Amino acid sequence: MSTKPKILLIYTGGTIGMMKDYKTNALKAFDFTQLLDKIPELQQLNCQIKSISFENPIDSSNMNTTYYVDIAEIIEHNYNLYDGFVILSGSDTMSYISSAISFMLENLQKPVIFTGSQLPIGDLRTDAKENLITSIEVACTQKNGVPMIQEVCLYFEYKLYRANRTTKMSAEQFEAFVSMNYPPLAESGVYLKFNEHYLLNKSHIHSSLVVKKKLVTDIVILKMFPGITKNVVESILNIQNLKGVVIETFGSGNALNESWFVNLIKKAINNNIRIINVTQCLGGNVNQGHYETSVALKKVGVVSGKDITTEAAIAKLMYLLSENFSLSEFTHYFEKSLRGEIS
Ligand code: ASP
Repeated sequence: MSTKPKILLIYTGGTIGMMKDYKTNALKAFDFTQLLDKIPELQQLNCQIKSISFENPIDSSNMNTTYYVDIAEIIEHNYNLYDGFVILSGSDTMSYISSAISFMLENLQKPVIFTGSQLPIGDLRTDAKENLITSIEVACTQKNGVPMIQEVCLYFEYKLYRANRTTKMSAEQFEAFVSMNYPPLAESGVYLKFNEHYLLNKSHIHSSLVVKKKLVTDIVILKMFPGITKNVVESILNIQNLKGVVIETFGSGNALNESWFVNLIKKAINNNIRIINVTQCLGGNVNQGHYETSVALKKVGVVSGKDITTEAAIAKLMYLLSENFSLSEFTHYFEKSLRGEIS
């Protein structure tokens, strides 16, 4: 019997498997079986690869939580049959998707690596081959018979990141993602070098995988800008059935401290809407109370997102809202690291 690691490739869509529709000149998804034909090099890897595809591959801009559940269920149903999972998706929302999957998979002890590309696999200058081949290599890597990676990651352009730390920062560069608040977990050059001390250590986990499929989507992102009006903030906070808000504040978590704003936030919290403060800066931490302009937010019960990304905050909010926690329980879980998403 072969002892080669078994890897399941899950194709959801995205540029990596797209081709040009010459009638419209637009890129559209094509049949995944053609993707494997395009990369005969995959046969040379020291692992067994099987693949599965969404019946109708999608551009990741069309992602939603139903698809998240589809991805999580494919992993759940195949968890004991494979040593690792590589998920091919569009890069546009990959940080959101992969962050959500990181929360949905409790007690994960196998690699789940998201990757994609900026150019289609068939393009002469494509970045798809390197991204795909190295992602599979990462998923295959074991140490003392145990997978090196036991968390949800994102691999792009020679770097492996913790998925829930990433943000897409370029629509053009091959280096499309950044992880401003956490170092890469591995870098690929002549050798594939893992930064082992940055990986999540799962040796203490003895429970089996639990897949959380309930996500609450009645949430919104409120991005602050100088000049935002009471009418706009009030309308957003009065959205019917609203359960949670991620406020993208300035700098280290600051927002205007005019009484109309603070009162609207206070009223929303009293109405059981959970409000998270994340910074709209790419890097750094929310530190509520450091400036006068964030003291009131802290006082009325706004939850600090600390150094979480907006993408991970949205995912964590969807996940934690499904638990019906009290405000203090919710705050406790949101402000602590559950999957390495907060320092
Ligand atoms: N629009 C594409 C998508 O996110 C871009 C990509 O694949 O990177 O699905």
